[in-house]
Amino acid sequence: MADCLFCKIISGEIPGTIVYQDDRVVASKDINPQAPMHVLVIPRRHIASLNDLRPEDDGLVGELNRRAAALAKEQGYAARGYRTVFNTGAESGQTVLHIHLHVLAGRKLSWPPG
Ligand code: 5GP
Ligand code: ZN
Repeated sequence: MADCLFCKIISGEIPGTIVYQDDRVVASKDINPQAPMHVLVIPRRHIASLNDLRPEDDGLVGELNRRAAALAKEQGYAARGYRTVFNTGAESGQTVLHIHLHVLAGRKLSWPPG
């Protein structure tokens, strides 16, 4: 997608701090971190939101979650705990219309969220 920020980060057109990549998934540090660890796990394929997922994407969504867990473990947060979030739509605060799983860790995270 020509106008998508995350497609541009994935293609290298815009620099990002990439912490993991394979042929389906890229993980980048968030530019405006909300916790000591704040990574975005992003599929290379452009999918605008969870509303656009199809049954054949189930494996990909599983990969995003397993990658989030692996990165949290790698950074030492598996036991302490971490939060994974997909924002979907305007009221959730989704600002980039390319699905991304936020992984937040390293401080006590409040619940319910704001
Ligand atoms: P959303 O609000 O859509 O769930 O999350 C979008 C996230 O992308 C925000 O946390 C925001 O800080 C992050 N973000 C916005 N622009 C950039 C950028 O240029 N690079 C990176 N790495 N993250 C960005
Ligand atoms: Zn995109």
